[in-house]
Amino acid sequence: MCGIVGYVGPRQAAPILLEGLARLEYRGYDSAGIALVTAGGEMFVEKRAGKLQNLRTALLEDGTPSAAIGLAHTRWATHGRPNDMNAHPHTDCSGQITVIHNGIIENFKELRDDLLARGHTLSSDTDTEALAHLIEEAYEGDIADATRAALRQAHGAYAVAVMHAGEPKRLVGARMNVPLIVGIGEGENFLASDVAAVLAHTRKVIFLEEGDVADIDAGGVIVTGIDGSPRERVVTQIDWSIEKAEKGGYEHFMLKEMHEQPEAILAAITGRVHDSTIELHELEPLAARLREVERVEFVACGTANYASAVGAYVFQDWLHIPARWNIGSEFRYSPPPLDAKTLVVAVTQSGETADTIAPTRYARAQGCPIIAITNTVGSAITREADAVLFLQAGPEIAVVATKTFATQVTTLILLAAAMAKLRGRLPRERELQLVNELRALPDKAARALVMAEPAKELARRYVNSRGFMFVGRGVTYPVALEGALKLKEVSYVHAEGYAAGELKHGPISLLDAEVPLVAIATRSSVQGKLISNVMEGRARDARVLAVATEGDDVIREYADDILWVPESIEELSPILAAIPLQLFAYHTAVARGTDVDQPRNLAKSVTVE
Ligand code: GLU
Repeated sequence: MCGIVGYVGPRQAAPILLEGLARLEYRGYDSAGIALVTAGGEMFVEKRAGKLQNLRTALLEDGTPSAAIGLAHTRWATHGRPNDMNAHPHTDCSGQITVIHNGIIENFKELRDDLLARGHTLSSDTDTEALAHLIEEAYEGDIADATRAALRQAHGAYAVAVMHAGEPKRLVGARMNVPLIVGIGEGENFLASDVAAVLAHTRKVIFLEEGDVADIDAGGVIVTGIDGSPRERVVTQIDWSIEKAEKGGYEHFMLKEMHEQPEAILAAITGRVHDSTIELHELEPLAARLREVERVEFVACGTANYASAVGAYVFQDWLHIPARWNIGSEFRYSPPPLDAKTLVVAVTQSGETADTIAPTRYARAQGCPIIAITNTVGSAITREADAVLFLQAGPEIAVVATKTFATQVTTLILLAAAMAKLRGRLPRERELQLVNELRALPDKAARALVMAEPAKELARRYVNSRGFMFVGRGVTYPVALEGALKLKEVSYVHAEGYAAGELKHGPISLLDAEVPLVAIATRSSVQGKLISNVMEGRARDARVLAVATEGDDVIREYADDILWVPESIEELSPILAAIPLQLFAYHTAVARGTDVDQPRNLAKSVTVE
């Protein structure tokens, strides 16, 4: 996920582009870059690792040429470290063509290898650069035609903006599964990742759709498909404020990020789940060692720890080897025996969590193979690992994790499947079923968000509860822990997460009419057992709020209120079941007037022990 801005018109482009980037910096800030076609027809490019300020400083030092057309980018790295070289814009061999890109070109490796074999010089590690060279090859005097031809060879998710120094009045934008809008001004036009970047100049926008290519000059926009066929797009009038636009029209980043889960899950499976197979190329160098592994230890903190718990259940089930989930700060000082046959999987959104990094470093010193799962390219954990799986979820701004839980669980399931496959434990029909289930997951997550609408009303109704008891069994036990954590973190209401069978061994004494039981009762192999535990609570006057599988009407007998989620295989159900609980926590927080995006006492990335 990154920020794209483009401008063509009568005014100086650079200040408009830099201001637009500032509005998009929430989308990523690994690097920033700008390309301008100068009045003299030269292509000028400046780019710097780090925040936008570094680019501004470089432009002040080097001078910014006069130009009425340009494009600019703020990067959130997916392929290649966040340094100057990998910063966008990327250019072709001639330096005449510049490209900026948001997303992932899945077949980048083949494209890059072929381009190198055909004599191109590639000067970055990114997937994006391949596009610049493909456009160069296809160019016959029309940059929109060449862009379409290049995109016909690329698979994956992208929003791109392209310019050619020889056509200094033309900007080309294209979208496939990643947002891109055209801002329509008076005698000037814009291209941007979202409306926040253009609202200071215009409120009229075209929301491009999948496969659209926009050919833009100061006077107008022509939209076609990648095949060149004409497409009609309506102009929408925006009535949001700039502040709201940064949040995509949502009141809080937490709400926005919950709603980004379908897109984030899609990004997490992109390049990994194919038409009929699951492949994690990142594991290739480790394959021999992974075949030998006899135990798996997950190490993580907070939400990542609960995502790891789902991972441990699934690993144990699919791989038939012991798998345990560990709190990082405990593991470090009371480690189990570790050796070269113990795989350690470290999960951290930021990649900088000290309580996760220290035990990982320790495990590495004991000779364990290490796999890191993180959202952050170039982060500290990536230097401790033999293989890294990036969540590809885009930046998460709200302190409370939502879309990273969904993508951590998704990635852990992918890892379990890939390892089972390596070890001959993933029958072909099971792989096919998983492929179908994973490909359906983004849509199911979108539906879960719609189905969770009653969470708002329920949150208001339950807002004066003295506390909450969340329970689950099997893979829904970690969901109970995560649901309780969400509520605690964001609304400051006390909540406990328990394995449902444990209720009767102690915490059942907390239950009464003012302490509701939240039962994660989605369809599973242990649903019947869980319902028995719920009945025990109900007999003590507790109200029961259940999360249940759509169509599973039997639950109506046992619950006072129900939040429904779409059906899925049991292993993926935690991702869907967490969604209504996130919304419940969010609406409880709003009802109680807490600081939703920055709850008291918390920090997004905890870099101290
Ligand atoms: N995949 C590209 C890169 O890593 C684009 C990432 C982005 O969306 O910022 O450079």
